[in-house]
Parts: sequence; C-alpha cells; structure tokens
Amino acid sequence: MSQFTDFALLPSLQATLREKSYVKPTEIQERAIPALLEGRSIVGVAETGSGKTLSYALPVLHLLRSLENSGDKVTENGRPRAAVLVPTRELGEQVTKVFKPFTHTTRVRVRSVLGGTTMEIAKRGVAGPFELLVATPGRLLQLIEQKLVTLNDVRFLVLDEADQMLDQGFLTDAIRLATFCPRNRQMALFSATVSAKVQELMNQLFEDAEVIRSKGSQRTVQTLQTQNRKVTDGKRAPLLEKVLSEPVSGGTLVFTNTREQCDKLFAEMKAKGCKCAIYRGEMDKNERRRNLRDFREGVLEYLISTDLGGRGLDVEHVSRVINYHLPKGMDNYLHRVGRTARAGRHGVVINFVTERDQDLIDRLDSVAPPAKKR
Ligand code: ADP
Ligand code: MG
Repeated sequence: MSQFTDFALLPSLQATLREKSYVKPTEIQERAIPALLEGRSIVGVAETGSGKTLSYALPVLHLLRSLENSGDKVTENGRPRAAVLVPTRELGEQVTKVFKPFTHTTRVRVRSVLGGTTMEIAKRGVAGPFELLVATPGRLLQLIEQKLVTLNDVRFLVLDEADQMLDQGFLTDAIRLATFCPRNRQMALFSATVSAKVQELMNQLFEDAEVIRSKGSQRTVQTLQTQNRKVTDGKRAPLLEKVLSEPVSGGTLVFTNTREQCDKLFAEMKAKGCKCAIYRGEMDKNERRRNLRDFREGVLEYLISTDLGGRGLDVEHVSRVINYHLPKGMDNYLHRVGRTARAGRHGVVINFVTERDQDLIDRLDSVAPPAKKR
C-alpha cells in the first residue's frame, strides 16, 4: 500500500487529504491507519516528525463520522465519543490544528480543554454537545470531578506523546482517565520513544494492543546532518558566536539542560543583539506561548529551551538545532534533534561536545539511519 486513497476512509476525509496534497502516508501511518480502522488497539512508536498525529486523527474521524452517518448522533452535553490526551497546552493546540481541516468536511465537533487556560475558558469549551475532545489529563480530571464532562461514551481513547506525558507525572492520571471510559473502548498510544514509564503504561493499559514500531524509531533521520564541535567548559560562548555567524535559513533552537542555563544564555544572546526568547518549564504560560508563536512566525530567530521544548513541537522552519549543553540521555537527544529535519526536510544539529559528552557522541552511530552506516 502506498497511497492514502488505498485506505478505506470516508470520501469526506479523502477529499481533505487531496485538498491538503497529502498523497503518500508515512510508514507509521501506513501501518497504524488500517489497524485502527479495523477496530484494533495499538501502540505506535515512531520517530518525531513522522506524522503520528494523522495516524490516529484519520481513523478517529472516520469512526465518529460513521456513527453519525448511521443515525447514532451525539445529543448530550459534555459527552464525547473520542478523547485525545496530550501532555501540554501547546501540543493540544497543535493536535487540534491537525484535526481542523478534516472536521470542516466531516462536521465533527472538536473541543479542547487544556491546562494553562482559566477554568472559565475550560468550562465554556465543553459546554454543549460535541464528538471529540483534546485534553491535558489534569484539566480533564477537574472537569470530570465537576461533572462537566463524562467519558462514559468514549469509544476511542488516544494517548499522544506518551513519553512526555509520563515524564510530567501523568501516569496515574492517564490510567484513571482510561478507567472512566467504557471497557470495550478502542485505545491508541503514540510515542517517539519507549521509556521505562511508557513500558509500564503499556503493561497496564495496552496488554492486548498491537505494537507497531517504525523502522526509523529510536533513530535520527536521513535528512539530518550532524556536526560535533569540541569545546571546553567556560569556552562555549565564543564557539556559539562563531556558529551563529554561519549562514542559515530558518529558525534555530538552542538547547540547555537547566532553567538557569537557559536564562543565562538568553541574557547573553540578548546582549549581543540576537532576536531570541526562552521556552522552558516554570515560566508564565502566556509568555511561553507568545514566544513560541513569535518563533513559529519567524519574528524570533532563536528559541532557547530546555528538554521541555525538545518534545513534540512541530515548528516547520527549524533548520538548525544547537545542543549548547548536550543532554545526558539518548532519548532526550533524539527528541531535541527531532525538532529539525522534519517530514523529509533538511536540518542540521550542532553539538557542543566536552569530554563528559563523549560517551553520548560515541553512541550516535547506533541511532544513525541504517543506510548511512557502513
Ligand atoms: P509526530 O507527531 O510524529 O512528531 P506530526 O504528526 O507532528 O509528527 O507531523 C509532522 C509533520 O509532518 C507535520 O507538519 C505534518 O503536516 C507532516 N505530515 C504528516 N503526514 C504527512 C504525509 N503523509 N505527507 C506529508 N507530510 C506529512
Ligand atoms: Mg506528535
């Protein structure tokens, strides 16, 4: 199978795929979509930027629209038939955006309740009847406790970006939310990596699920170019200056390991006149959102982040990732570099390598795409 038209998706979905010029499914889409259309539960593990969102969005919309078409309509308030759990507000907004063009033609109602917004906005978001809910776990639990939402009609539950969700301590929340759904619901979990916590969640909730791993998962992509630059502690700033003077088109994501490093680097780059901002945990949510938007729109050239920014974000024009401080683990490394070279585009990662990082650098070969290995 090699084209979206080969899938048994409703004509309204096919029409939007055509309109958006989506012709060939990615590997994970090619394998996950038929399984989900057949009603099976799955775990989908695929590298960042491989199109995991559409892997579930299309089958979910197909199911919801088919129920409507058969005359089985949603009439009750706050009682969705499908729920997508995401770790952060930003990812929730991103996912909702992917659904949007398809919901115009299918007329499926999508609502979102995301942390970082006021309870008032959340309440308004779930007023009236709708078919699909995109939510962060904490906020959703609050709404359920207040009886503003019930999951007792959910046929399809999706846990997206599961690795990040669990890093943020949502394991028990996710399990609780799953138990609020009917027993025979269909489930899907998507993740770029299978961390120990993701494995635990799989053991608890996805025992019977089919595990689909793309060949490229836990690897970097072909279109990523890696540059390792040696540096000693205390000498990062001059190296950065040199790197930033090299020509590049598109935005640059600069990674540090801690919030302190992030703020310090921001102050230094700002002082040099760089158009930059920070994106990290424990900061004003509105400011964080604004920074991301400005970066997305090209108003900012640099976004300085911690591993929080390494997860899931899909910013089209990131052409360069700089690991100003390299992460300790390979999972975080893969997430970070997954912000560039997305969907077949070219990208470069520049690693600032000290002696302490050599171990990680030595292991990069093992995550390089197979064809590049000799
Ligand atoms: P992931 O969740 O795996 O990191 P996303 O679902 O965010 O990836 O998709 C990454 C990018 O790839 C998005 O910009 C999306 O529009 C694009 N994309 C997804 N599927 C396809 C496809 N079949 N063909 C071309 N581009 C696609
Ligand atoms: Mg994703």
